[in-house]
Amino acid sequence: MSGETGTGGWGKLVQGPRQPREETSAAVERNVTDVEKKVTLRCAFCGTLNQVDLTRAADRPKCGDCTKPMLLDRPVKVAQDDFDRTVLKSKAPVLVDFYADWCAPCKMVAPLVDEIAHEQLGKMLVVKIDTDAAPEVALKYEIRSIPTLIVFRDGEEVERSMGFEPERVRDLVLRVVE
Ligand SMILES: [Zn+2]
Repeated sequence: MSGETGTGGWGKLVQGPRQPREETSAAVERNVTDVEKKVTLRCAFCGTLNQVDLTRAADRPKCGDCTKPMLLDRPVKVAQDDFDRTVLKSKAPVLVDFYADWCAPCKMVAPLVDEIAHEQLGKMLVVKIDTDAAPEVALKYEIRSIPTLIVFRDGEEVERSMGFEPERVRDLVLRVVE
């Protein structure tokens, strides 16, 4: 008897607020999706994949496994195997710096990319792809010269910049971030 009463109590608790909430719940859910900018990143220390909400990047999110910080105020190195899940599936716009270690002009662009990562913390994911270690991605996006910077949004290339074009890159970034 007491068990039944308990169940009844629970039922009411769940049902009571649910009915009037139904109308707003869709709006709330949509709102949450709009606000959160989830990205999947591999921890640089232990290699575990973490889902991080970019809008909270300033809180210095930690790896769920090794608890070391996921540093997002600087470009994140992304390996070829992680390109799809990290870049294409990102809920935030992504700036990708296609570079190589031997490339001198890439070293000119690197500080610009660092600055953008710092300035757009929480709004945009900034990553670096070593083209020597990511030939398939380089081929897919027809990277013919480096450095090439590509802005992605919702898995699609928005636009690219080749060489050292700081003003163009900044304009492009401002167009995709909110
Ligand atoms: Zn870790």
